[in-house]
Amino acid sequence: MKKIQMVDLNGQYQEIKDQVNSSISRILESAAFINGPEVHAFQKELETYLGVKHVIPCANGTDALQIAMMGLGLRPGDEVITADFTFAATVEVIALLQLTPVLVDVTADTFNIDISAIEKAITPRTKAIVPVHLFGQCADMDAILSLAEKHNLYVIEDNAQAIGANHTFKDGSKQKAGSIGHVGATSFFPSKNLGAYGDGGAIFTNDDALAHTIRGMVNHGMYERYHHDVVGVNSRLDSIQAAILRAKLPKLDEYCHKRRQAARKYSSAFSGQEHIVVPKTVNGCDGICDTCDCHVFHQYTLRITNGKRDDLVQHLNDMGIPCGVYYPIPLHRQKAYVDERYREVDFPVTNQLVKEVISLPMHTELDDEQIDFITNTVIHFINS
Ligand SMILES: *Cc1c(COP(=O)(O)O)cnc(C)c1O
Repeated sequence: MKKIQMVDLNGQYQEIKDQVNSSISRILESAAFINGPEVHAFQKELETYLGVKHVIPCANGTDALQIAMMGLGLRPGDEVITADFTFAATVEVIALLQLTPVLVDVTADTFNIDISAIEKAITPRTKAIVPVHLFGQCADMDAILSLAEKHNLYVIEDNAQAIGANHTFKDGSKQKAGSIGHVGATSFFPSKNLGAYGDGGAIFTNDDALAHTIRGMVNHGMYERYHHDVVGVNSRLDSIQAAILRAKLPKLDEYCHKRRQAARKYSSAFSGQEHIVVPKTVNGCDGICDTCDCHVFHQYTLRITNGKRDDLVQHLNDMGIPCGVYYPIPLHRQKAYVDERYREVDFPVTNQLVKEVISLPMHTELDDEQIDFITNTVIHFINS
């Protein structure tokens, strides 16, 4: 059996090696390292793929979130509601801009932000909601958009984990994750579903004026050479990363499909297991969503409900099976983000999930032998 890896970037590289290598040498020869033609071409190709009017590439996903908030003109003291159960980058940029983060609980079956918790947290100072499409599936965007409309709030999608996922609205229409709210942010960190070979990120919007504002902001607030109209940042995607992403973008749907196939095999092996809860898809297709594409399985995350999660992590490590706990500590209990406003009773689900979740190896190169070995090892240990 091949060595099992949490992510396998080399396998993907082998398939696009010739294209990537020749693009990189072309860029080295041209010396157009920043804002070269590759970046522009990638931007256009991603706009077409997502069905969104504007893609603004930038240096990483954290910057993408920060710049999205700057572009919307959020001011110190504005309250921004987001999920307690996510990667820290989401709340980090809110705090960094001196906005007020308002962390709320998530739902146990989808791991995504809880709509009733958002509703309870809205005050006259609330300006935005940041749904995180955690592990590769959209938050409940129907409900979030209608809450946002009712209370006049911006919706900023943290789409770092769900690029390529489709959200199916209640009326049956579909839209790509990240293109649904006022603005979306994504990351091209190497292990993300569309990963570069270094850092990268992008901001998406259908709003022409916002796109214009953001295009200047990523480049020192400059709209005309050496005229700095607003305080901006330096956040650019470099040409080499853009060339790598251009080679991968046409394969993104196939990558997502391979991840879904692996997820389906995992979930069918775990079905009927009393102490193992498999990830749920909102469309009720249980990962068999070749037509709706609702989940792109950035992570395949189980809940272990008999208290053996930590022991299972140890056991899998001993057996040579990598795994991860995303995330082990709720953000409201992280030193940087503790706040007297938070009460433990308001976070029952996050507090439970941090003790139960475990993410198994998930990438496009997993084979049946590896999946069988992983599922058998997990099932045997959980029932022993
Ligand atoms: C990875 C990630 C980010 C940050 O992306 P970087 O490119 O690493 O800065 C933000 N939010 C979520 C949910 C992520 O998973």
